Amino acid sequence: MATQSREIHLKAYPQGAPTPEIFETKTVDIVDPGEGQALMRTVWMSVDPYMRGRMTPGIKSYIPPFQLGETLDGGAVAQVIAGGTKDLKVGDYVVGFTGGWREYWLTDGEGLTKVDPNLAPLSAYLGVLGMPGFTAWAGIENILKPKEGETMFVSGAAGAVGSLVGQIGKMRGCKVIGTAGSDEKCAWLTDELGFDVALNYKNFETSDDLARELYKHAPKGIDTYFENVGGIMLEAALSAIAFGGRIALCGLIAVYNDQRRAPGPNNMANLIGRGVLMRGFIMSEYIDQMPKFFAEIAPAVASGEVKFKETVYEGLEKAPDAFAGLFRGENTGKAVVRVSPDTV
Ligand code: NDP
Repeated sequence: MATQSREIHLKAYPQGAPTPEIFETKTVDIVDPGEGQALMRTVWMSVDPYMRGRMTPGIKSYIPPFQLGETLDGGAVAQVIAGGTKDLKVGDYVVGFTGGWREYWLTDGEGLTKVDPNLAPLSAYLGVLGMPGFTAWAGIENILKPKEGETMFVSGAAGAVGSLVGQIGKMRGCKVIGTAGSDEKCAWLTDELGFDVALNYKNFETSDDLARELYKHAPKGIDTYFENVGGIMLEAALSAIAFGGRIALCGLIAVYNDQRRAPGPNNMANLIGRGVLMRGFIMSEYIDQMPKFFAEIAPAVASGEVKFKETVYEGLEKAPDAFAGLFRGENTGKAVVRVSPDTV
């Protein structure tokens, strides 16, 4: 007997910030699993800033754009509820880059990784122990390569990626400075996550103002910068970067909704004179390092050394809100949508 599944489709590409009208919910029938197939129940789904890029067709990207009228897709934690594959049996939980924006789906198991529900809350496999957490670790290990005693700066510091970047910076013996969009977020960074300094970027009108503040906390300049945002954060970092500095260009969320490209930073020359390395990356480039990431960060999460927060949206129908909220700074830590209960 077919299983009815609600799914969220993209009706129109956003012009600027994503709005509720571009999404629509449809109910579809999912046929029973065939030989070697598992029927999956989505438990948690992820909303991530990169999805905005998939809503802008016509730009060459590492990932294809979403198609209008088709179900959106994205990371999810899901449980096998019928059928099975050679590696998956009923009851197993998995995480993968697919299965989001829908309640039920069929799989042959490809690209899915089994997860242990007893090691960490299931939703953590979409955040601190999942793609964003790995992104933080991979950018630090492969590009920033921080040394003890150095100063690390991270923008988007109270988000899924940034909140782990700062904590790894502390584990590596760095002084850590972060920026975030509210005083509450900044208090979380310093009081609970151990950041040395957290700055509410909304209090700074220009990149020069922010750069001056960075120099107050890092008189010799910042040695490493983990870029999640762009805008005045990037320009300030380019002003305050130290000789021999390293910049990991991870994301530029401040410009994702721009309909016209803003002029670039006006102080790129500092990279030349100061011998700075600036390197962009997509975490999948380093995916074979996932076991090393997990071996370090999972025990640190289990022991409480690494802390994380989630902003939870209840119900599949909240997914468009959750996604739009990323661009309004609604989330602290990882934004996740609870599609169904952990256990049924
Ligand atoms: P977050 O959890 O940080 O959520 C987005 C946050 O960005 C918001 O909460 C908001 O926080 C901030 N923000 C939104 N709009 C603006 C703006 N206009 N100016 C300044 N800040 C803004 O997302 P992630 O941690 O998942 O992702 C962070 C970055 O990393 C993104 O740019 C993303 O695209 C990138 N990324 C890159 C990957 C890669 O492989 N290269 C993989 C994963 C993520 P606030 O209140 O502080 O404004």
